Amino acid sequence: MSKLRFDVVQDAFKKKALRVNAPKERPSKYFGELVFNREKMRHYLDVSTYNDLVDCIDNGQPLDRAIADKVAEGMKTWAMECGVTHVTHWFQPLTEGTAEKHDAFMEYDKKGGMIEQFDGKSLSQQEPDASSFPNGGIRATFEARGYTAWDPTSPVFIQDDTLCIPTVFISYTGEALDYKTPLKKSIKAVNDAAVAVCKLFDPKVRKVFSYLGWEQEYFLVDEDLYAARPDLMLTGRTLMGHESSKNQQLDDHYFGAIPSRVMEFMKEVEIEGYRHGIPLKTRHNEVAPNQFELAPIYGETNLSNDQNQMIMNLMNNIARKHGFVLLLHEKPFAGINGSGKHNNWSLGTDTGTLLLAPGKDAMGNLQFVTFFVNVLVAVQKHNALLKASIATATNAHRLGANEAPPAIISSFLGHTMTNVLRKLLEVPSDTPIEIAGKKGASVGLVEIPEIFIDNTDRNRTSPFAFTGNRFEFRAVGSSANCAGAMTTLNAAVADQLVAFKTLVDQEMSAGKPMNIAVMDTLKPMIASIIDTVCFDGNGYTDEWKAEAQRRGLDTETCVPRMFKEFTKPETIEMFARTGVYTKAELEARNEVKWETYTKKVQIEARVMGRMAINHIIPAALAYKSRLLGIITQLKAVYPDDFTTMAATELDLLQKITTLIEDIRTKCAAMVEARKAANKIEDEYAKALAYYDIAESLFAIRRPIDKLEEVVDNDLWPLPKYRELLFIN
Ligand code: ADP
Ligand code: MG
Repeated sequence: MSKLRFDVVQDAFKKKALRVNAPKERPSKYFGELVFNREKMRHYLDVSTYNDLVDCIDNGQPLDRAIADKVAEGMKTWAMECGVTHVTHWFQPLTEGTAEKHDAFMEYDKKGGMIEQFDGKSLSQQEPDASSFPNGGIRATFEARGYTAWDPTSPVFIQDDTLCIPTVFISYTGEALDYKTPLKKSIKAVNDAAVAVCKLFDPKVRKVFSYLGWEQEYFLVDEDLYAARPDLMLTGRTLMGHESSKNQQLDDHYFGAIPSRVMEFMKEVEIEGYRHGIPLKTRHNEVAPNQFELAPIYGETNLSNDQNQMIMNLMNNIARKHGFVLLLHEKPFAGINGSGKHNNWSLGTDTGTLLLAPGKDAMGNLQFVTFFVNVLVAVQKHNALLKASIATATNAHRLGANEAPPAIISSFLGHTMTNVLRKLLEVPSDTPIEIAGKKGASVGLVEIPEIFIDNTDRNRTSPFAFTGNRFEFRAVGSSANCAGAMTTLNAAVADQLVAFKTLVDQEMSAGKPMNIAVMDTLKPMIASIIDTVCFDGNGYTDEWKAEAQRRGLDTETCVPRMFKEFTKPETIEMFARTGVYTKAELEARNEVKWETYTKKVQIEARVMGRMAINHIIPAALAYKSRLLGIITQLKAVYPDDFTTMAATELDLLQKITTLIEDIRTKCAAMVEARKAANKIEDEYAKALAYYDIAESLFAIRRPIDKLEEVVDNDLWPLPKYRELLFIN
């Protein structure tokens, strides 16, 4: 076995980069070639069908069956020209990743032959046998009927030989069984609420978009080394492994030169991303060894989230072509940084105004401050809920782990905006908010610089940082569907904007001019956030934990308990008011979350137990046996001087024996805890029991990692961190 590890490491080290043949044309030429975008719609649909479809996409007008048939016909013609033979509804169930069920275009032509067929009905709706997707009891298995319905706002695309139709996934009784349905509802809610507020400032605003720009972090490991690690293969992370002598201390990986094997992988991801219409912009090394990031140009949230799902699939497949395995787990390796998926989020109008960026004049700035403050109030009110929205068994390893966002949701504003808010509390409500530099600085004025200098060097410890024209929700996990976080954020902001508008209307009907009504309403809100949810200090310190508790922010660290936020009465009411989730949906989703949490920890616990017993203890025993052999020989040769002559061996023997014993007893206790937990019926109680088991895995890991330090390197059966992390 030791030989095997050695060979695997050697082979991995020798691998050469697989050169990618880049297309001859410029990326702008083939961008979106696999997407049924507007250009293709114009080409493959007649004018009136095109207009109806665009009206449906832009304004939510229903499409009747005859039009849907024509749309399907156009899509089919295009797809077949691209060599497509199959079609699938593409949806995002409450598991990780996306789901597909492919149907061939092939049908009998009723004349003894076959033809390719695809009509409006198959475009609009499909009934996957949905009984085995998580549903939290909404859909009893005997009526295993959920259905998928076309989401015309997400463009249809081609993957391989298959036409993929983005869809929502709902039960027959109408409850959402996926991520997309509530996300779309939240986008509508925030649109409705934000448009009403925008109209105070600009009556021409008809639509407000929620924007998302995700930054996807990931690790790559060589596939042969991966295959020699059962824990990576089954759980996506290493359950054991001593820290490498060198890891990220020298900061030499971040933004360093990209290794050539990885570079070729990235190139291919970009080419495929562009062909799928994903506007990829940034690629670089991340802080930890073998950790990387890619990010697109931001876009409308529903589409941007679909693209994130697509890119995760593409990266998975392309990694294998290059002899890598992609790790999207939030914490594949202990002791070095984990991976997140920063969700850069903002709101913008159809008139081209970004609502979280300074405006052109004092009124524009007042509008900016209005949205800025309302977002912060929403985050303050729902800080526990927002944390719950990013909580998972895997992300738990990042939260509060002293390198990623702390398990407390606060917001970094930077000096400039903090000062603006403080000043606004002092000055009369009709003080104009000027752009610095334009009017010359005069005392008493509230000023916003055109560019936020201090926000470019922003606080990396903040889970919800203001970065100049957007907020960056950094607590989202690298493997997550962004929709979980974005739905909650949109809904919370929508609800807050509605409440705000009601107050402003009251002030205005009492005769106040709009700008004063707005500022009078904002002032108590500013006072309530400035020393609570707003925090520019170091989020990793213990003092902050204590301080956050004093400020009334949620500091819960137990993931199953965090989920309880979703079914608190005030949360249920908020989601009901915004029309995003019903009580039944929230309850069902929590069941799914607890069940998923339990299963993930259960798998880890099983793998840990088996690796400890089948891999680690036997290796340690082999070394122990070797030591015993030497000790016996020494005793025979030096009967008088034995303890001195065998001091090293005896010491090692003692250490190893203690560590083995420690592992054995802890594993046995863990197995007993699992047996007890498995008997629990209630999903919440069971998840809580598994939370303790998850904690116990760290305790089992410790003696294993110590053994790795003492057992003969030749006998160690698993690739070590120094091998997994430093070979590209
Ligand atoms: P950094 O790593 O410095 O945070 P990146 O350039 O990697 O920045 O990523 C920033 C992300 O934020 C990109 O996806 C970018 O398109 C996105 N972004 C920029 N402006 C906005 C905005 N107004 N709303 C949403 N996302 C935005
Ligand atoms: Mg960022």
